[in-house]
Amino acid sequence: MTRLRTMAVHGGRDDLADLGVHALPIDLSTTYPIPDQAEGGHALQHLAEGAAHAASPVYSRLHNPTVARFEQALAALEGTSAAVAFGSGMAAVTAVVQAACVLPGKPHVVAVRPIYGGTDHLLSSGLLGVRTTYASVDQVGDAITPQTGLVVIETPANPNLDLLDIAAVVARAGDVPVMVDNTFATPVLQNPAAHGATYVLHSGTKYLGGHGDVLGGVVACAEEHAGPLRQVRIITGAVLHPLGGYLMHRGLATLPLRVEAAQRGATELAARLAAHPGTGLVRHPSLPGADPAGLIGRQLRGPGAMLAFTTREDPTAVVRRLELITPAVSLGSVDTLIEHPAALTHRLVPDTAREASGVPAGLLRLSVGLEDVEDLWADLDRALSGRGRGRDQALSGHCEQDYIKSSSSDFREPVVNH
Ligand SMILES: *Cc1c(COP(=O)(O)O)cnc(C)c1O
Repeated sequence: MTRLRTMAVHGGRDDLADLGVHALPIDLSTTYPIPDQAEGGHALQHLAEGAAHAASPVYSRLHNPTVARFEQALAALEGTSAAVAFGSGMAAVTAVVQAACVLPGKPHVVAVRPIYGGTDHLLSSGLLGVRTTYASVDQVGDAITPQTGLVVIETPANPNLDLLDIAAVVARAGDVPVMVDNTFATPVLQNPAAHGATYVLHSGTKYLGGHGDVLGGVVACAEEHAGPLRQVRIITGAVLHPLGGYLMHRGLATLPLRVEAAQRGATELAARLAAHPGTGLVRHPSLPGADPAGLIGRQLRGPGAMLAFTTREDPTAVVRRLELITPAVSLGSVDTLIEHPAALTHRLVPDTAREASGVPAGLLRLSVGLEDVEDLWADLDRALSGRGRGRDQALSGHCEQDYIKSSSSDFREPVVNH
């Protein structure tokens, strides 16, 4: 079970044979019978101190077997000894800041922009009692003070696909733990812990779940760092629901295939977008000049399925003309999604900071899904060339109620061409 695809299918399922089941069991119990209350007390104490498991789960805010199986599978894919799951990616980021900064009394974070807008907003808000200094990679060492508890980076970065050398940031951070948001790359393409990251964060809402129907987050790390994260999770109640744990665990089985297929589509679309007269800047790690440090092959196993581009025309008009691609935030789903970061995901980042970090106001972010690449290209080319009719008009003869629109607008008559 050493290779990625095999691990993705079999990880976290060690106990299924003994249980005599084939599919992952979903344990919805909120509480567990404790005939011996003194023994139950020991289990509770153990879990409250951050243990991965105990003789009884006691109560599902302390431990859940379905979620624990997902954590074990994700840790195996990231090559860490543990993982701790949360109710959303933002709950996971919050828990890392609480464990690395608030608990040890080091209320300062150093972060390299751009990062996901929600993370940026959390770190800027002061909500958790931490102060954040934004620095370039070269300035990370100088920005660190004795009060610094965490360095935060994202690579490939949301939304402009900047690539950072994780090992170089870790070297500059010295003793300060580094959190890498690995949501865009997924464990299929990058394992930040192997390059020295202390915390590897995923919004499981994206590629891990993969179908746009589950919200969750997870942090892969060494067992010594997992304990405090579990303590934070118990205290704050930022738990992942077992149904979410089940869906993300099931998603892992197809993760390598989904990422590889979407990446092929994204690489093709990036090349065609770069040659299209309707685009300006096009960002994808596969394009010439996008990887000056040579990180693909050394740190990143492939360019991934996220890309970004600017348009000659108003980006809002271009998005309105799309007939197939879903205009929506989020990413990593089976269907292709497009969004305008300055208007949506990165709206709460101050304009000057957003521009300075290489995210122009007109940038569009595309999460390439699993559709036929020729259909995606036809849609993008139409929209960029002023010919697309938009999702509403593309519905033949319909100007109907919302529920019909939303269910049938993605439908296309089967086109049989080989
Ligand atoms: C979506 C996202 C998050 C936040 O995750 P949620 O599950 O929405 O809370 C964090 N980082 C990145 C890179 C994301 O794309």
